[in-house]
Amino acid sequence: LAEFRSNTSETIWNELLVLGMQPGVCNLGQGFPDYSGSRVAREAAAAAMVDPSMSGINQYTLPAGLGSLRSAICAYYNKCYGLHGGGGGKKAIAPENVMITVGATEALFVSLKTLAGPGDEVLMFNPGFPWYLSTTRIVGATPVLVELHGPDFAPDMEEVEKAITAKTRVLLLNSPHNPCGHCYTKKEMEGFARLALKYNLFVLSDEVYENVTFGGVQHLRIADEEGMFERTVTLCSASKLFSLTGWRVGWALSTPEVLKGLAVYHHNTSYCAPSPLQHGLSVALEAEDGSFEDMPKLVEGNALLLGDALKEKGFAITQPQGGHFLVADTTPLGLKGLECAKLLLIHAKVGVVPGIIFYFADPKDSNGGSGNKGGVDMDRPLLRFAICKRRDTIEEAVRRIRAMV
Ligand code: PMP
Ligand code: GLN
Repeated sequence: LAEFRSNTSETIWNELLVLGMQPGVCNLGQGFPDYSGSRVAREAAAAAMVDPSMSGINQYTLPAGLGSLRSAICAYYNKCYGLHGGGGGKKAIAPENVMITVGATEALFVSLKTLAGPGDEVLMFNPGFPWYLSTTRIVGATPVLVELHGPDFAPDMEEVEKAITAKTRVLLLNSPHNPCGHCYTKKEMEGFARLALKYNLFVLSDEVYENVTFGGVQHLRIADEEGMFERTVTLCSASKLFSLTGWRVGWALSTPEVLKGLAVYHHNTSYCAPSPLQHGLSVALEAEDGSFEDMPKLVEGNALLLGDALKEKGFAITQPQGGHFLVADTTPLGLKGLECAKLLLIHAKVGVVPGIIFYFADPKDSNGGSGNKGGVDMDRPLLRFAICKRRDTIEEAVRRIRAMV
């Protein structure tokens, strides 16, 4: 218990959320859209809830999820990624490969609980989504960190291979990456697959931003590499796909054998995701033409607009290839990330997340890394801006940042 209490990243996260929500703050902190999310999904869910002929929709679904949603997910993935029954990777998915969860957060939790435990090591990248480290620790496994280097934050395969030990069980991947926006290339995918097969690793692949890629970049799935389908759990989310973070619906894709393991924990935690919302999502997925109401285009434009303004101000920018975020390095300004986040909040009333939230102090280091305050590396010079916002929100943030002296 003491170990979890000493991890202050949750505390900092919660404090930042409150600060970002203060009146008058232009909130580019937590990654949630400030637009309404899929109209088709919302209308279908609302109609189903009050339709007397669909009264069953307000009751539990099977733990694996609503049949129509699992089928719609299969149809969507098989079509969108050209999955088929033949060999050479790209194996088609069927409903028994899909488990609906309460967001990707639950899918992450039940997957790690199933795949790793005390004595096992989970390889993950630093920086990364904070939940990876905390969930790994909660399930009793040991996080092992591989540093990503700017400005592009692409993984270095030699460093990944060096970090693998006889105890490594799981390789945790995330593309498009939160916070850095890197999308794995085909070469990187092949590299990960080679390592997973050589060292007998399971891959937990967080692909919640799969539909948000920029400049013609194609999202690639590790499960589609030859030999990887059987050793991958893919995590997906309606929070991101349809901009509905409050609905708390996500899904895990894997083999029926692996999903049976996840189902034990899913059954004993949430049991099932909200039924009418699953229905709404099944209708939206069936109707989806791949444009997602132009949300990916909006986010890409936001990245360019904000990136230019930050460059003018002297930040070093990593233009994202996908995802919902843009990271800026504060080093050229002679500031630490946390310091700069405070200045932006106080002087420009723009809420952002300092990179310290995404940098884990090395858990093996008893001092916890430089300047560590209980699991958080305080010295990192990064800032993260959420760009999954309306254009006028980003324009307002740009005006405020430009006006800062
Ligand atoms: N993975 C990543 C990389 C995320 O940024 C998030 C944040 N939403 C999640 C997982 C969790 O998503 P959900 O809202 O579906 O729980
Ligand atoms: N994925 C979002 C982010 O990184 C929100 C995560 C959360 O607050 N659960 O900001």
